[in-house]
Amino acid sequence: MKYHCAHRWAFNAWGGALQEQEDALAPATGHEVTLRITHCGMCHSDVHIREGGFDMGGGKLSSLERSGVRLPVTMGHEIVGEVVEIGPDVKDVSVGMQVVAYPWLGCGACAVCVQGDEHLCGKAARNLGIQVPGGYADVLRISHERYLVPIGTLEPARAATFACAGITALGAIRKLPALGADDYVAIIGCGGVGMTGVALLSATSKAKIVAIDPDPAKREAALAHGASLAFDPGMADALKTISKTCAGNIAAAIDFVGAESSSSLAVNLVRRTGLVVIVGLFGGEFKMPLPMFALKSITITGSYVGGLNDLRELVALAQRQRLPQIPLDRRPMASVNEALDDLINGRVVGRVVLQP
Ligand SMILES: [Zn+2]
Ligand SMILES: [Zn+2]
Repeated sequence: MKYHCAHRWAFNAWGGALQEQEDALAPATGHEVTLRITHCGMCHSDVHIREGGFDMGGGKLSSLERSGVRLPVTMGHEIVGEVVEIGPDVKDVSVGMQVVAYPWLGCGACAVCVQGDEHLCGKAARNLGIQVPGGYADVLRISHERYLVPIGTLEPARAATFACAGITALGAIRKLPALGADDYVAIIGCGGVGMTGVALLSATSKAKIVAIDPDPAKREAALAHGASLAFDPGMADALKTISKTCAGNIAAAIDFVGAESSSSLAVNLVRRTGLVVIVGLFGGEFKMPLPMFALKSITITGSYVGGLNDLRELVALAQRQRLPQIPLDRRPMASVNEALDDLINGRVVGRVVLQP
């Protein structure tokens, strides 16, 4: 019997540094697949996962521990790897294939999971990098081959970012109504996911994109990846200036930050009948005068990551047409702690991708 030795970078205390540890994996059984990880993207959610929860506003924090997440936690949910071992029942993937792993696993049995929305399962989530070990490791066990999408000739570091940044951006864009060339869409927050949103929207829609981010480097990158305009939300009279420049015609706003200030900017920017999609998990509380819903007839909706089919579709889309490419910041996996610090301090443009 051949055992794989996995090296993981895991934290043993909420908020603590990641430490390298070893773990023996028994041979794959049934539909299990073993990957040798080659690339793993770093998501802003990892900052919150390490802290142990999300800011729910009013001083309240959600708690991963109370929801059943156990230490140590090996994060990382944007995983590309090579298949190195398959269980006896695996048919659809073979050894040597390069695949991206779908990380948002649910219980697989409830009504939500059965309709294909495992990422929205409310019963027993088994997300890679939260409840089960993720990609900050060199070897990883996947429970079933159906969660693996072959990437063919796609650049592996880029395909890794599809598993969260990509499908999160695609999932939010899919909620937008049909848009014409005179319509504007505000993209608030141009980190890894927001920048992917700018790139995907410009590749799939005629609407003009207004990128909004306090960081001049991110605004510049957004302009280079399909945005027509870019603004600093911290400038004096931001709301008035942005609205006026867009002729009051912002049909939709996607809030990739999800903070109190960004969501309030989003609802105030959209025109009457406009749509606001809240995606980011920065945290806080949403407040709006109730009559505004009726007077502006706006719609506010949320969007959380994406489904397995979104990942398959995004891989197929990237294989069909060249998508504008967000900047990647490649680093060795051993520098995972420094990379997390840089992400917390806003020193990352685009997406960090770690390589073991
Ligand atoms: Zn993520
Ligand atoms: Zn379920």
